[in-house]
Amino acid sequence: MIALNQLLYKSGTVSRYMDENRFQEETDSSLLRYVKKDLSVLFWNLTLKCNLNCQHCYANASAKPDPGELSDGQISDLIRDLKNMGLPVVIFSGGEPFLRTGFYDFIRQAKESKIRVSISTNGTLITETVASELKDLNVDYAGISIDGMNDIHDQFRGMKNSFNRAVMALNHLKNNNVMTGIRFTVTGYNYKDLKKVVELGMEIGVDRFCLYHLVPSGRGAKSIDISKKERKKVLDYLMETTYNIHDQHIDMEVLTVDNPSDGLYLLLKVMKEDDKLAKQIYRLLMKRGGDGSGIKAGNIDPVGNVHPNQFWWDLNMGNVKEKRFSDIWKSSTDPVIKEIRENSSKKLSGKCGRCNFKEVCGGFRLRALRVNGDLWSEDPDCLLSEKEIKTEIPEGWI
Ligand code: SF4
Repeated sequence: MIALNQLLYKSGTVSRYMDENRFQEETDSSLLRYVKKDLSVLFWNLTLKCNLNCQHCYANASAKPDPGELSDGQISDLIRDLKNMGLPVVIFSGGEPFLRTGFYDFIRQAKESKIRVSISTNGTLITETVASELKDLNVDYAGISIDGMNDIHDQFRGMKNSFNRAVMALNHLKNNNVMTGIRFTVTGYNYKDLKKVVELGMEIGVDRFCLYHLVPSGRGAKSIDISKKERKKVLDYLMETTYNIHDQHIDMEVLTVDNPSDGLYLLLKVMKEDDKLAKQIYRLLMKRGGDGSGIKAGNIDPVGNVHPNQFWWDLNMGNVKEKRFSDIWKSSTDPVIKEIRENSSKKLSGKCGRCNFKEVCGGFRLRALRVNGDLWSEDPDCLLSEKEIKTEIPEGWI
């Protein structure tokens, strides 16, 4: 995750609120030694059941739940285990999480266990009443997917009127003072709508705009992705937006997810203008440490299998029906997990192997694996040129 406003201004809305301690630790660049490697966020797909049929769905969600989905009792046991681990944040997702029976109970249990609760949803089931219940449950954040304006979103999501319902959901959440934001997965279909969706977010007053880069998985094939030139334009626009919202004192943070080279792209631009800020950004990126899949971020799928992230369901670390999650996570013997938890930058090859920023970035490993068939090969979506990856890191920055 690259938080543009945090890098440029040390500011944040949802990310500051979700984990204030971590935000401070990361933002204080003098604490460079103190880089946490504990699990900090768990993305939990509660059900495969969904009321939409999105073109880019990594989970291949469907109209019915998987018959092997975790029982209510198994979910409660798992929440107790997460509490004992001291997990700071859980993101409940699906399918569509509001279609999982007992969903509100699971939120309540997680909150009682002092775990911050974020919900990732298509928003179509969030009425005024639901938003008010989420407020009563003290839900910390709800991210609503909006993948284009009007028909673009509806076509993409496979349901007429889903755009209007998602926008209504954002308004209901705002009216009920639940922190909310837009999740926008950029592809060739919606790239041209990015600006309008960001402006829509500002108009509604959302707390976060979060751009997801496509990770080829499930129905989200690489063929629907944008080009490198378009990706650079996306980043330029988001940087410009971050400057503007700061100048206009708008309380919205701007994030990108699943492309660690975004942070380096921003760094190189700042290096040309402001050496002091560039040093600060570099140290922040170093603290964050690139792709945290399998290290600081994890995933549980609807049937209880544990994975390094929600796009990597073909790597199964174990099942919580057979073993506690904490044991699976801490003592994984999976050779790939062991490798990514060691100093993996030494294993990088291709452009990532040649890159002076490999300790800070390292690329998004799953994308390299999906596209090149080699986990340690270069990230095909890297935004830096061959010349840029050879940029000397000034003395005194580390
Ligand atoms: S070459 Fe790899 S490590 Fe370097 S910036 Fe690009 S993605 Fe990151």
